[in-house]
Amino acid sequence: MGEPTGVGRFGSFGGLFVPETLVPALQELDEAFRDAWADQGFRDELDGLLRDYAGRPSPLTECERLGAELGIRLFLKREDLNHTGSHKINNVLGQALLAKRMGKKRLLAETGAGQHGVATATAAALLDMECLVYMGEVDMARQELNVFRMRLLGAEVTPALSGSRTLKDAVNEAMRDWVATVEHSHYCLGSVMGPHPYPYMVREFHRVIGNETAEQCAQRIDGDGLPDVVVACVGGGSNAAGIFSGFAEHPSVELVGVEPAGGAAIGNGVPGIVHGMLSFLKQDEFGQVQEAESISAGLDYPGVGPEHSHLHEIGRARYVPVTDDEVIDAFALLSRTEGIIPALESAHAIAWVSRERAQLAGKTVVVNLSGRGDKDVAQMMEIMGDKL
Ligand SMILES: *Cc1c(COP(=O)(O)O)cnc(C)c1O
Repeated sequence: MGEPTGVGRFGSFGGLFVPETLVPALQELDEAFRDAWADQGFRDELDGLLRDYAGRPSPLTECERLGAELGIRLFLKREDLNHTGSHKINNVLGQALLAKRMGKKRLLAETGAGQHGVATATAAALLDMECLVYMGEVDMARQELNVFRMRLLGAEVTPALSGSRTLKDAVNEAMRDWVATVEHSHYCLGSVMGPHPYPYMVREFHRVIGNETAEQCAQRIDGDGLPDVVVACVGGGSNAAGIFSGFAEHPSVELVGVEPAGGAAIGNGVPGIVHGMLSFLKQDEFGQVQEAESISAGLDYPGVGPEHSHLHEIGRARYVPVTDDEVIDAFALLSRTEGIIPALESAHAIAWVSRERAQLAGKTVVVNLSGRGDKDVAQMMEIMGDKL
């Protein structure tokens, strides 16, 4: 997974489809990122934060009980153990540090379920920056606790009142704010999506997941030191891009991205343009963006990062759907067999492994456990409480 070509293209996907007023800001960001990424001082500072604040490296845990039950050798990359409970902290610490280096004092972010908003508010508190988070009005009502967390961390949360008043509208509002305030604001986008350089930059900030996992596999797996299959859930696709980047150059390693059946951008979408990028996108018969529907709010994004569309097109990774019922079973399965309550997003990856156990028999499988399930237990108690 190398650099995009031309203006942010991964094969035929990606690009920079934005109003002209945003082009200089994106070019400035691209240059600032490349400059920072080539600067050992910046890398050291970020690595220091990832280590001493976020808790990296995250462990690679072998699941002996669940592996035996499924007939495979199973490892989990434990992004759930990071500060704020998911992989998202890797990206926000990177972008917040970059924004500071660019002399910006204010972080803008969009959030759906609230997890990226909380992570951004956390980085803003740590680095003494202002933070404004756009969140669909409907999502604010559904995710009250995260709204409170963001405010507790010192961020302002502003409702997005347009359209369906959910994540895609929050992205639009954040971009609109950024156009007007770009001199002192940085838009801290939450996944490997949007216009160039975001898909590339966010993947690079999550590359640490793949680098660590590859190193850990080399120490733990005999022979070539590689797993047979690497699996991750896909919303926008950032945790998947992070772990795939450690293995994409090894053709023997199969890469699998798991989408929610009700929001499968690659499985059910067609190429289209949204939020500044050309990528697979769920659309209705008139080409309008269709709401994604999934049990996990963090995967409710109708599009997917352009590099995943490319990996799909060239056949390097495959993208598969799982249903909400399979996710519920996987959530319970990992909790019961390993004492690890996964985020519902991450449970999608477990669900696919569990369903495909016969095909995977005898193989070594690494699942990126993108987050912890504390945020989901109240919802799951409603769904399955009386079945326990
Ligand atoms: C936000 C989130 C996701 C989805 O985002 P990606 O960009 O697809 O990784 C997945 N898992 C968890 C735990 C999340 O919080």
